[in-house]
Amino acid sequence: MDIIKKVNNNERLTHQEALTLYELDLYTLGELAHAIRINRFGKKSYFNINRHINPTNVCKDVCKFCAYSASRKNPNQYTMSHEEILEIARTSIANGAKELHIVSAHNPHAGMDWYLDIFRLIKNEFPDIHIKAMTAAEVDFLAREYGYGYDEILDKMIESGVDSMPGGGAEIFDEKVRDFICKGKVTSAQWLEIHQKWHARGKQSNATMLFGHIEERSHRIDHILRLRTLQDKSGGFNAFIPLVYQKENNFLKVTHFPTAQEILKTFAISRILLDNINNIKAYWVTSSINLALVAQEFGANDLDGTIQKESIQSAAGAKSANGMSQEEFVGLIKNSGFIPVERDSLYSELRVY
Ligand code: SF4
Repeated sequence: MDIIKKVNNNERLTHQEALTLYELDLYTLGELAHAIRINRFGKKSYFNINRHINPTNVCKDVCKFCAYSASRKNPNQYTMSHEEILEIARTSIANGAKELHIVSAHNPHAGMDWYLDIFRLIKNEFPDIHIKAMTAAEVDFLAREYGYGYDEILDKMIESGVDSMPGGGAEIFDEKVRDFICKGKVTSAQWLEIHQKWHARGKQSNATMLFGHIEERSHRIDHILRLRTLQDKSGGFNAFIPLVYQKENNFLKVTHFPTAQEILKTFAISRILLDNINNIKAYWVTSSINLALVAQEFGANDLDGTIQKESIQSAAGAKSANGMSQEEFVGLIKNSGFIPVERDSLYSELRVY
């Protein structure tokens, strides 16, 4: 088949060709993606020792898929004090965390400095910790709320100690789907613009795609190809993370969920199409650890990290609230036939197990 030849010859696929990859049987597609992964990483699977901190769930935006945010009437709303956040950072770092992954809802009552002081205070006490923080959606929120341009916000983030940006807020780039699931928050063009500006500052970031809700396969292909196009220009994406939609406690009312086969095909296609983004991450929080382990044979070379605690996906049904121990993580990767490699946030290898 021509398409298989093209993939084996490392030729780039068009949108239409990429769509036909979904028609291949799972094993053929898996083999194509696995060959690329093995060629690039052998059997190494990366993870890092990280801690997720979600400082507030009060949000001005109303994304239909979100189970995390709280409105002002919600009795479960919270906003941590800086001291509480620092205490979490201290405990996490004492327990070995090398990265703090800090993502918040869009709290209009907190103030711009409340956001930026989190990073300043942590970096003051722990200058060596890697802070991955502020999705492009948060950057856009701060810009809208406080009247700054993206450039100013990004510069302030760097001054405050943010080292890299997470990939959240990308959801699905297709404008119609996006309008339906998260109208009002950062647009696709703005999301891409913010990451391009971040990369232009010599900084790196991740990119995500939320799939398995109301989008079609062609929307996923479009999303992945828009990232490929930006990466050709800016080169700052470290990893692509396909996030599987979590169905509980939200307003999207999805009745058909992707099968494991569809999820694995999406990982494999991501690996095949994104010849310019090195790492494909199976974020076990949304795919389940079992499927993430299988995804290692479908192009994924990274399983994220131990997380320690997670509030956003677990609010929507993911089994991730308390993370996983390092020993367990390493054991699972080993038992699945791969080589666990602890990495830092920018993918330098720290320890091969
Ligand atoms: S996804 Fe983010 S921006 Fe949207 S409602 Fe939830 S917390 Fe707010």
